[in-house]
Amino acid sequence: MQEAIVIGGGVVGLTSAWWLLEAGFGVTLLEREAVGQAASYRNGGQLSYRYVSPLADAGVPLKAIQWLFDENGPLRFKPEFDLRQWKWLASFLANCNAADNARTTAKLLELGELSRRAMAELDGLISPDEFAWRDAGKMVVYRSQGAFAAAVAKPDSESSRQVLSPEECVAKEPALASAQSLLAGGIFNEGEAVADCYAFCELLAARLTAHPRFRGVQRTEVRQLIQDGSGAITGLATSSGVLQADHYVLAAGIDSRDLAAGAGIYLPLYPLKGYSLTAPIRASDTAPAISVTDFERKVLYARIGDSLRVAAMVDMVGADTRINPRRIANLTRQVQDTMPLAADYSRIVSWAGLRPATPTSAPIIGATPHRNLWLNVGQGPLGFTFACGSAKLLAGAMKGETPPFTLDGLTLR
Ligand SMILES: Cc1cc2nc3c(=O)[nH]c(=O)nc-3n(C[C@H](O)[C@H](O)[C@H](O)COP(=O)(O)OP(=O)(O)OC[C@H]3O[C@@H](n4cnc5c(N)ncnc54)[C@H](O)[C@@H]3O)c2cc1C
Repeated sequence: MQEAIVIGGGVVGLTSAWWLLEAGFGVTLLEREAVGQAASYRNGGQLSYRYVSPLADAGVPLKAIQWLFDENGPLRFKPEFDLRQWKWLASFLANCNAADNARTTAKLLELGELSRRAMAELDGLISPDEFAWRDAGKMVVYRSQGAFAAAVAKPDSESSRQVLSPEECVAKEPALASAQSLLAGGIFNEGEAVADCYAFCELLAARLTAHPRFRGVQRTEVRQLIQDGSGAITGLATSSGVLQADHYVLAAGIDSRDLAAGAGIYLPLYPLKGYSLTAPIRASDTAPAISVTDFERKVLYARIGDSLRVAAMVDMVGADTRINPRRIANLTRQVQDTMPLAADYSRIVSWAGLRPATPTSAPIIGATPHRNLWLNVGQGPLGFTFACGSAKLLAGAMKGETPPFTLDGLTLR
């Protein structure tokens, strides 16, 4: 039996471990902290299989400049003395055109559909109720007529798509009542879900432990991938000494960048920092049942169990997870303006995490120049959404199987 070590116990590493077990590998998972406590901890909870919208698009550079001067804007940029920031930015800007956006969107839709089906395969293993999974549907609301008209004009093969006036948005999602006069309209799609990513991670970690081929989650920090010049990785230098297996899977979120660099591989990843707020929902509150995206402000609202989860903002400030109180105050104000009665805002818990993002928003899955080193990284703003599909593609690649669709744009270049 082939043995694999998965580095990283976020949602991507845990799902990788599961699908590798399913593919017949013996698996060990290495995590330096506790599972699911980095980017996968309090994310937006959206399983956004169809609304994949890659960040790089035509018009984004101009919008980004406007956002930088807008106090309520979703974007912050702090220039760093780090070439990786500038290289990422240059590549991101090169992808800001309609053709690349359409190409990436098509690929992410394939990955999204695969991920939807793959997560459903886990139904017998983890009950959807256990991680607050709900088939909530998704409503994207637009504040400007221009953005709304552009969204309506965009081709969409989704048969469930409903174009809504502001009144219809509120009729469908009463939590938007206070914002009705500010809306130009909305688009609703069925089939998008919400769930608690951290609960999913914990449950999956527990199920892994019960699998006969699972060797355990080892609380260990990987410091270096060891190479011998023969085109293979021969071991991992870790805080518990050297660990060896037949295969190594790098799924360490944003930290994959440094580990790969040590093995001579450049990963085009940048930590796009985002924030979330979690507030308890009382019986008297009008929390959204549907998952709502406030398009211009880039704010996501989801009811997860008994809480309202709001996720927002893209700060390009390096790998810094400190909470900026001004950003939180700003986000809280926006949320209270938009959905004043949705939750108990006096008991907000705030959080910041790093989206391990590629310039295209497409993850990097599969082989590397080292024949036994594999990647599952770069899921960026949609790592929970894409985790199950990415893990399935990874396991297929490691078994040498033909993928269900061409992986152009999803592999290391
Ligand atoms: C504000 C915000 C909102 C988001 N909203 C959504 C959403 O609504 N829907 C969605 O699909 N996605 C969302 N995302 C994105 C999603 O959370 C991430 O893409 C996903 O969590 C990435 O998972 P990961 O496993 O790659 O990384 P992580 O969860 O960061 O896990 C990596 C793990 O590797 C471990 N590790 C790192 N280095 C080492 C090492 N050297 N040795 C051992 N272990 C190591 C870390 O401790 C960590 O546990 C959001 C992200 C943010 C920040």
